[in-house]
Amino acid sequence: MTVPEKKILLIVMDGVGDRACPELDGRTPLQAVDTPNMDWFVSNGNSGIMDVISPGVRPGSDTAHLSLLGYDAKAVYTGRGPFEAAGIGLIGKRGDVAFRCNFATVDGDLNTLDRRAGRIKAPDTTDLVKSLSGIVIKGVEVTVREGTEHRAALLLRGPGLDSRVTDADPHNNGKVLESRPLVPEAALTAEVVNEFVRMSYDKLKDHPVNKRRREAGLPEANILLPRGAGSFPNIDPFPEINRMSAACVAGVGMIKGICGVCGLDVIDLPPACTGGFGTDVVLKMQTALRTLKDHDFVLMNFKSPDVCGHDMASAKKMSAVRNMDAAMKYLRENMPRDLVVVLTADHSTASSTGDHTADPVPLTIYTDGMIMDDATEYSEYGCAKGRLGRIRGHDLLPICMDLANRAEKFGA
Ligand code: ZN
Ligand code: ZN
Repeated sequence: MTVPEKKILLIVMDGVGDRACPELDGRTPLQAVDTPNMDWFVSNGNSGIMDVISPGVRPGSDTAHLSLLGYDAKAVYTGRGPFEAAGIGLIGKRGDVAFRCNFATVDGDLNTLDRRAGRIKAPDTTDLVKSLSGIVIKGVEVTVREGTEHRAALLLRGPGLDSRVTDADPHNNGKVLESRPLVPEAALTAEVVNEFVRMSYDKLKDHPVNKRRREAGLPEANILLPRGAGSFPNIDPFPEINRMSAACVAGVGMIKGICGVCGLDVIDLPPACTGGFGTDVVLKMQTALRTLKDHDFVLMNFKSPDVCGHDMASAKKMSAVRNMDAAMKYLRENMPRDLVVVLTADHSTASSTGDHTADPVPLTIYTDGMIMDDATEYSEYGCAKGRLGRIRGHDLLPICMDLANRAEKFGA
């Protein structure tokens, strides 16, 4: 008899885990808010706590998401540059080198006058980037994509590239730097970067956008300054490894970038799903459920709890939790039966420290026909009573695959 395979919805409440907050009488925001819908999943599923990388390691959102997707983050992580580039749509492949860039203002001797070109933004940056399309330098394809405000990303693709080069960005108002190779193999990459920087100045200095800005007394964006080179990591595509189609529903660029690099389809969200505090969580859940109709696995990320933790705003984090519970209500009332639901976080973001901590995150897995456990409340404390115990992030996907009847038998 073949058992039907289920689909998997992995819900990441970014940074939702916390520590005891004195202003909440020693409770965490999750403990301080009544969350009947999250609690329903806990009461009907299995719960535990999870060290997303390993005990005592404070994860970044990028390394944490790699771990949640089943990768060994320590082996595949090559820095944030490639993921940021991917987050604004420059999804590279193995061997490509990505940089973060700033539009900047320089004088005729390439002295930096304003590293952010007066915080220039779209549509000016859109027009400027267009004039830099289709460049090939020494056989290397050069692609530029605009980010928010003065930010952009640069992607190099071609044979013989190596990311071990220094920045052209002087990081202050000094002279634009020559990129230097840190190892002999990176000589070509440094040459391409230097040529690109000069070319960006030649193409941008008399661009109509800059003529207009000059006349209006605004800083011109007459050069692009690359920094933070990183190689696209050697990541085997998630859909191939796990033999299931996969997508991500997220508003934040970096999360979209990580998922894109891992081979997940990055779903466009309606404008009301900003990824920030005011995001329409129910609309986002609707989008995830719709995406599950033609994908086997969906990762969704809600960013707002993390933002509140960084702001050290425990009361605001409580209202983010209330919002999450509204999304879980919609899920509870509308989910298909053949679904494995995971409710967890990528790391804790403590309202008392304003940063990520290594505290294990709460975890609940729900699907039809599970053995009950004693956990009834979604929180750092409540989930610890469940039968999943304390696991690591890279154990999560295998557990879900098994519950979804997708795991291969080990042995005869
Ligand atoms: Zn995070
Ligand atoms: Zn964070």
